[in-house]
Amino acid sequence: MSDDGDPFANLDHVLGFTLPGRHARGRVARLGPVLDTILANHRYSPVLARLLAEALVLTALLGTTMKEMDDQLTLQAHSQGGVVDLLVCDYRAGALRGYVRHDPERLAQMPAMPSLFGLFGKGYLAITFDQALSNERYQGIVPLEGGSLAEAVEHFFVQSEQIPSLVRVAVDDSGKVAGGILLQHLPEGEEGRERLHTRLDHPEWEHVRVIGQTIKAGELADPRLPLETLLWHLFHEEDEVRLLSTVPLARGCRCSMDYVRGVIGRFTPEEQAEMVDEKGFISVDCEFCSRVFPIRPDELQI
Ligand SMILES: [Zn+2]
Repeated sequence: MSDDGDPFANLDHVLGFTLPGRHARGRVARLGPVLDTILANHRYSPVLARLLAEALVLTALLGTTMKEMDDQLTLQAHSQGGVVDLLVCDYRAGALRGYVRHDPERLAQMPAMPSLFGLFGKGYLAITFDQALSNERYQGIVPLEGGSLAEAVEHFFVQSEQIPSLVRVAVDDSGKVAGGILLQHLPEGEEGRERLHTRLDHPEWEHVRVIGQTIKAGELADPRLPLETLLWHLFHEEDEVRLLSTVPLARGCRCSMDYVRGVIGRFTPEEQAEMVDEKGFISVDCEFCSRVFPIRPDELQI
């Protein structure tokens, strides 16, 4: 994770940290080749590629706050009748994936830099935490508001979860590098417990928030700037910054032939017959990774 000549040394990682003296915690993330690999599975316009890049950074930031290896975090933005009607990203064990469902014809008629509202219209942001050990699932939903997905996620934590939070995401001009930061205030003894009351103007948090707001987009998405150095720039005047372990990121999809067969197997034989193409296969492609699964209907009857 240093600038030792490896052009990818500072990419595809999330670094966690705490500021014990301020009862704050955070994550910084930067994506490079993983982002490129995920985008290469789709043919998105630059606008959608940037939207998905932002969503993937947010998913990595939030996913790595979950405790167990196999916990899963899913970030979904959806709307009815929007140019984009669904965006889904998920994270599990360092693996990221995501896709955007949209109307290409309407997108082509939009201005070059449409707003979040322009893309989704009236939409919702849902964040789902699936805990592997306890098999518990928690989902929070808020209106998709603000100028960006990062703002909507910040709103989610402040309004829905009552956790003072700052979220920033940046994508560089090439669209190939994206980075972000999440800062949260968790007053002593409150982590993991239900919060009955929150103070958004707590002096500890006010201090951390003001520092967090000084971060520049160019630093978040600078592939040459190590994440540790980024944190040093921000917090070198703090008494203590504790670095947590670095989590490497990968592009991962959990689609499989067995899963696809299971889905198609739930249709009636008549419906399956209608799906068969001229070569005799039912072709199903994974929306996350665009992998195509050709299924012979007779395989399903077994
Ligand atoms: Zn897949």
